[in-house]
Amino acid sequence: MSRGFRLGAFTIHWLQGGMFEIDGGSMFGVVPRVLWEQKCASTPDSHVLLANAPMLVQTPHGNVLIETGLGNKLTKKQHEIFRVRREWDLPAELARLGLSREAISHVVLTHGDFDHAGGVTMCNETGGLELTFPAAMHHVQRQEWEDVLAPNKRSASAYWPENFAGLAEGKNLRLIDGEEEIMPGVRLVRTGGHTRGHQAVWLKSGREAALHLGDLLPMPVYSNPLWIMAYDNFPLDSIAAKEQFLGQGMGKDAWFLFYHDPEILACKLDEAGAVREPFCA
Ligand SMILES: [Zn+2]
Repeated sequence: MSRGFRLGAFTIHWLQGGMFEIDGGSMFGVVPRVLWEQKCASTPDSHVLLANAPMLVQTPHGNVLIETGLGNKLTKKQHEIFRVRREWDLPAELARLGLSREAISHVVLTHGDFDHAGGVTMCNETGGLELTFPAAMHHVQRQEWEDVLAPNKRSASAYWPENFAGLAEGKNLRLIDGEEEIMPGVRLVRTGGHTRGHQAVWLKSGREAALHLGDLLPMPVYSNPLWIMAYDNFPLDSIAAKEQFLGQGMGKDAWFLFYHDPEILACKLDEAGAVREPFCA
């Protein structure tokens, strides 16, 4: 768990949602290895170590969790395939902060891929499946939810039905149509690109602003709009959304928050995309 990061009246903690290694070619797509290897540490067989760091945002109006990590439902085989290097530990992480799972009032998913939604449900002591945050409203773009229920051939491999078991619209699932402020200072905006219903999260408190761009900006090294993952389903949409949102964030001197970077959790970016004022793990 990170130190607390202050954003106006909000406090943000990055939690242990599991770590794994991904093939660098999948992470950087058409960017040549000789370029990305200069900027990103990798293993001898060109894999990149990634965090999966759900952010607990403590606000005067409730505790928001952005993303949920890998969860505790991976099989032994999946552990090997995904090269899991650290285990998901969200309930224990929350307990260290004096919070129960029931203390989370809102869960935001930028999209439905298993490394973001794997902790929506969890295996309990009796081997059953239950919602990890039973008191929380879960916020997903309507477009994303439709694709989770009926994925295309490509996205089906990352949308796992067991991660969404028990979610029902109106009870503990709220579908967002494009843009909505779900509580004072927490605004969701659809970006598309990585997936059709991928969304970003704007946080604002006092004079401070922060932007969580999910898998459009998983690490600071992706600040070049042309550096996108091979996983992105709609690459041109990703590039357009990155240009738009990076410009907005830089214009507001906002903090950028990172889900997948094992070291830099937040930073500001200068006009050339270089890291300023890094907040590190
Ligand atoms: Zn991801």
